[in-house]
Amino acid sequence: MVGHGELSPQRSRLEAMFNYLRSATQVRDVLISGGDPLALGEDNLDYILSNLRAIPHIEFVRIGTKMPAVLPQRITRELVRVLKRYHPLWMSLHFLHPEECTPESAQACNRLADAGIPLGSQTVLLKGVNDEVDVMKTLMHQLLMMRVKPYYLYQCDPISGSAHFRTTVAKGLEIIEGLRGHTTGYAVPTYVIDAPGGGGKIPLQPGYSVGRDGDDLLLRNFEGKTFRYPDPEVV
Ligand SMILES: *Cc1c(COP(=O)(O)O)cnc(C)c1O
Repeated sequence: MVGHGELSPQRSRLEAMFNYLRSATQVRDVLISGGDPLALGEDNLDYILSNLRAIPHIEFVRIGTKMPAVLPQRITRELVRVLKRYHPLWMSLHFLHPEECTPESAQACNRLADAGIPLGSQTVLLKGVNDEVDVMKTLMHQLLMMRVKPYYLYQCDPISGSAHFRTTVAKGLEIIEGLRGHTTGYAVPTYVIDAPGGGGKIPLQPGYSVGRDGDDLLLRNFEGKTFRYPDPEVV
């Protein structure tokens, strides 16, 4: 829509969306993303959220935003007062690097968490920015301290102009491997590739299941030690 004058949430377009959602009883879950929805004023957000909440089959509403990282001053008391009227409301916050976890960001996340909004993070794996275990581990720890649960780590999509930011998938697996077992599971996001062509998210895990020996499954732990686990094929 960028460049086509369609960026403002024109009420007629929103009304068409609400009409669709009222009739689409299979929709349980609405994610408001963007752009950045928190670039809207409180009046527009209130209008959108109240309309969604009035639809009985919509159980769960989420907002995806980067504001707590890039413009934490946007998380005003006034904004939070509007948001907390529409529970259950969850938020996915876009954080890339520990240096985004400033005292201002911490205050923004605290305000949201104090308003009862569960916070999850989304992080894109970027070469030269956060493609090291230590940087990623620090980021995940800082997020937990800001009351944000690391949710997704995304492999960088192959979109034009981003080649210099892309890492191998092996790098993403190395980072997950450097987290799992080395820190709490709360600090380990799900590493996903958003499959090109609308295939949705596909999760990737380092290979911890290393084979079988008769009725035993052979498993490798985070230290590289192998363990047997009884797993007969017929129980
Ligand atoms: C990840 C993603 C979502 C949200 O997925 P959940 O697994 O429900 O959190 C929605 N839309 C797009 C395009 C996404 O990439």
